[in-house]
Parts: sequence; C-alpha cells; structure tokens
Amino acid sequence: MSNIIRFTTPRHRIQFTCINSPSKPPIIRRLLPTATTTITISMDLRRGLPPKPPSTTPIIRHRKTTSNNKNNNNRSPSSTGTVIDHRSPSPIPKASDALPLPLYLTNGIFFTLFFCVAYFLLHRWREKIRSSTPLHVVTLSELAAIVSLIASFIYLLGFFGIDFVQSFIGTSRVDEDNFTLEDDVEHHSKPKPRIMDPLPTAATLTSKKDEDIVKSVVSGSIPSYSLESKLGDCRKAASIRREALERKTGRPLLGLPLEGFDYNSILGQCCEMPIGYVQVPVGIAGPLLLNGGEYMVPMATTEGCLVASTNRGCKAIFASGGATAILLKDGMTRAPVVRFGSAARASHLKFFLEDTLNFDALSIVFNKSSRFARLQSIKCSIAGKNLYIRFTCSTGDAMGMNMVSKGVQNVLDFLQIDFPDMEVIGISGNFCSDKKPSAVNWIEGRGKSVVCESVITADVVKKVLKTTVPALVELNMLKNLTGSAIAGSLGGFNAHAANIVSAVFIATGQDPAQNIESSHCITMMEPVNSGKDLHISVTMPSIEVGTVGGGTQLASQSACLNLLGVKGASKESPGANARLLATIVAGSVLAGELSLMSAISSGQLVKSHMKYNRSNRDMTVISS
Ligand code: ADP
Repeated sequence: MSNIIRFTTPRHRIQFTCINSPSKPPIIRRLLPTATTTITISMDLRRGLPPKPPSTTPIIRHRKTTSNNKNNNNRSPSSTGTVIDHRSPSPIPKASDALPLPLYLTNGIFFTLFFCVAYFLLHRWREKIRSSTPLHVVTLSELAAIVSLIASFIYLLGFFGIDFVQSFIGTSRVDEDNFTLEDDVEHHSKPKPRIMDPLPTAATLTSKKDEDIVKSVVSGSIPSYSLESKLGDCRKAASIRREALERKTGRPLLGLPLEGFDYNSILGQCCEMPIGYVQVPVGIAGPLLLNGGEYMVPMATTEGCLVASTNRGCKAIFASGGATAILLKDGMTRAPVVRFGSAARASHLKFFLEDTLNFDALSIVFNKSSRFARLQSIKCSIAGKNLYIRFTCSTGDAMGMNMVSKGVQNVLDFLQIDFPDMEVIGISGNFCSDKKPSAVNWIEGRGKSVVCESVITADVVKKVLKTTVPALVELNMLKNLTGSAIAGSLGGFNAHAANIVSAVFIATGQDPAQNIESSHCITMMEPVNSGKDLHISVTMPSIEVGTVGGGTQLASQSACLNLLGVKGASKESPGANARLLATIVAGSVLAGELSLMSAISSGQLVKSHMKYNRSNRDMTVISS
C-alpha cells in the first residue's frame, strides 16, 4: 500500500511517498497508522510553481496552526481561513518573493556564502589566536564576512529552520499543520466536514479576547446571531462568525471576501449573520433611448453574452429612433386570508369590502401606515368559509411590501371590531401573489404594469440584427406565442425577459426573488410600414421595483441607481423614480428580446454562446 503526502509550507513543498515505514515521523504516523517501510522525499524548491492540476484522488485539507501565524494579524482577507490548498501558491507573501532569482539559485548562493564566510572566519580566528591578535580587532574584510555570515544564517534559518523546529515543538499542534493528503486509500474517498480544534486565529482577530469569542461561538456558548449586538462592531462580528464557521466545518472560505464591505449598512435590513459577500460582475448596456432619454443600464450577471446581446438590442433601438414606454398601473398588493364559521359570513365581509360606500373609511385606516401608501382597490375571492382580500395600493418610490403589509394590518384590526368572528389565518394568503408564478399577477398586474414599444427599421434589422423582419415575426409567433402556449406557460410569452430583469434587479438592489412575476412578459412582433419595418413590444404587468428601502440603499446598488438617475426618493413627485426604473427595466427587456430573437432567427445563437458563454478553462482544474 503506498500513500503520497504533500506537506506544504509557506516556503516549500515536500512530498513523502510512504511505503510501510516503521520509523516514520509522527505526522505520517498519524495519517498512516499501518504504514511500514520507505520514505522518499522530494523537495520542490522552485519558486513560482504553476498551480498543480488537481488529483482525482480525494483531498483532505487541514488547517495551518503554526505559531508564527498565530500572531500574524496582517494577512489578506483571502487568507483568513488558514487552510492552505496545495493547488494554490501560498497566500502568505514571503521576503524571498521579492528576489529576482529563482529560488533554487537564491538558496545555492546563500548556502555557498554561509559556508565560505564561515570557513574564512574560522581561518582568520585561528590566525589571530596564533599571532595573539585580540579577537575584537577586525579588518574590513572580516567585518564584511561577519555581516554576510549573519545574513546568510538568517536566510537559511527562515527558509528551513522554522518549519523544521515546529515539527518537533507543540506536539499537540503538529498534526494540524497545513498539509494536504492525496491518499489512494478508498476509505478516504470524501473530505468530511469535521469540528476543527479551535486553534487557528483569523487574520482579523487582533486579541486574545477575540480568540475567546471565536471559541465560545464554536462551542455554542455564544449564539452566532448575537455577535453584532454583543460586540457593537458589525465588521468584527462578521469576521468572528466566519472564523468560527471555518473551524466548525473545516471548510475554507478563501474566495469569499470579507473586507471591502460596510456591514453596518445591512444590519437589521438586508442580511443576518453575514460572513462576507459574493461578488457579481456588473456590465453596462446602452445607451437605451427611451421616451427621449438616454440610459446606460447596469446589469449584474455571470451569464456570458447577456450584456453584449442587450447592448446590441439597445443599439438597434437607438438607430431606429428609440422606444416608448407607458406605465399602465402602479400598485403593490397584499392579500390576507381570513376564516369565518360559515361561507355566508365570509360573503358578508366580501360584500362589505367591495361596497364603494365603505372604501373611503377603509382608505383612511389603511393609509395611516405611511404618508406614501394610498389604497387603490380591494378585490376579494372566496374559497368556502375562507376569504382572500387583495389590497392594492401605491407606495411612492418604495417597492412597497412593508408599506402595504402595515396598511393591511391596520384594516384587519379595524374590521375585527365589526366582524369579531373573523379569524385572521395569515397576513399573506398567496392571492397577493408574491414571488410565485400566478395568473392573478399576470392578469391584474402587481407593482408597475408597463408596455414598451419600438419600430425597428428594415435597415437596422438587416445591418445591426443580421436578420429580416419576416423571419423575426414568424419566429415570434411560433416560439413566444405558440410555443409558450403549448408549454402551458404563465406569463412566459417571451424569449428571455427574466435574464434582463434579474440582471438589472441585482445591480440596482431589487429583490431578486420578485424576478418571478416581474419577468411576466408577452413579446409581440409584427411588420409595419408596408411590411418593411418591425413593430416590437413587450407588455409586462408586474414589474416590482423600488428606489428606496431594501437593498437599494447599499453602496454598490445605490451607485447603479444613481447611474440611471433614479437613486432614492424622488423630490419632485414621490414614486417618479420607481416608475422610471420600471420603464427602464421594460425598455431593457425590449432590447434583450430584439437581440436574442434575432440571434435565433439568424442561427447565431449557438455560435455566439460557444464564443462568449463557455469557459475554455479546464474544468477539472477548477473543480475540487
Ligand atoms: P418596502 O415597503 O419596499 O419594503 P420600506 O418600508 O423598507 O420599503 O421603505 C420605505 C421607507 O422609505 C418608508 O419608511 C417610507 O416612509 C420611506 N420613504 C421615504 N421617501 C419615500 C418615497 N418617496 N416613497 C416611498 N417611501 C419613502
């Protein structure tokens, strides 16, 4: 039975091939309890080794707990998790990295220097003793030799000494030193999460007190969720939580950044128990010429081709004189479910709520929730003894879910006086309908309902979109209309509205889950101007966006809103920013539809996706 162990230190990589050795070092003994004979050691001392391709054999990662790292508080955030992966170069910068020579050459020079000057000094020492010259009287060459000796000694000690010494001291820690194991033994087939000894110290942990808190979180005596309130420092809370998580799971979080984010800005609003943040690239499409204004549209996505394609659509729209968007409706909804003892009693409430004479009184109660909330309508639906009440209200520049929920609660409290037998089952009864595909949103609308159109000239269809008007019209009919009907689609009569909606939502801090109903869209195409030009439209009944509240106030998202000129609350007319954002979303979808449909009709789709949407990198190198 043979086993390969890679022992990776910040300075060098040592590979042990072990074939049954009785006299193996303790670290190997722990790993290979049954091994007995030979150890061959190969040291790779070259600097700048390319990352090794991963082995198909299982890899178990262990943490680095060397004492020199214990006190190292200046590591980069990416090295916070102290697990070293042998496939990556060491994340800890070394002084030797600054040297212009390859490592083996540098080592050779310092070795030679050390022995030469040592020999020279010993020789001089003997001479002085023979000639009775005082030892402290040194010549210039001796002084230089002493300096060289010290320098080379420090270098060699730093290179070989520390790790060597550490393999003997701190025996309880030795097996936790950073190494990776490539083991061809079957039973090690999967790296199992395990509770790590709470030894490593995070880069950002600066004191013994922090270390104690990490240990308490790992042991469970301090709940992870309470760190922010306990420490009064959101950044530190995230760092400690992250370190505790790494120790508990044994999984490194090297690629997840910690630094560069304002953790105060999400407290109590956007995300609980943060441990870092995910980076999503933001591309730019435009200018989108819409209602006479030009907009550069930020799109956060990891799908290759998407931004490029939307950009091409924007170009076609621009060259054809722009697009027009009309806001048809603006109202957020919430529908509680209430239950009565009989269907008749449920019907009484339905009639009461739908009676126009009662609307004003209900509005006054509802509108108390916010100066921006204005009740627009109440629509009821009955299922036996249960009543679903769909309230619709305007919400200013907020997307409005909180606002409308507060208003609904006010009304339910008010109704309880006249209908004491009403049992409130839930503030949301799914007739709203939030974050689920539903016919009610498709038919009635939710949030902003927008229609957007443009006439694309024959010339632009040919030169920019590389297709023809009849080909586009036919494809739209057979794909977006007939094909979606055959599929039994609900609001999915389009090519890829969700792509554009999601990308703009993420960039501008909208709720990405509301992409579901916000992407409801029917794309229509027909020839106009004697069949020369193309009329294209997108009708989107449920675009749910806001420019205040939620994720819109975060720095990156706020910058993207600012780029569109819709950041925050509109001063002139409350709600104007959110409404403009909804029309921009629809305009961008129009551009996206135009470009993708053209790519499909001209047979370019697969080709361009192979070029821009497929990684040429060797995936086996990336997979772990
Ligand atoms: P949502 O209802 O979308 O979840 P929030 O309730 O979190 O949003 O945010 C709306 C908050 O912003 C409310 O407190 C509201 O009073 C405030 N606000 C300030 N200006 C505006 C505006 N122009 N439109 C809507 N809300 C605004």
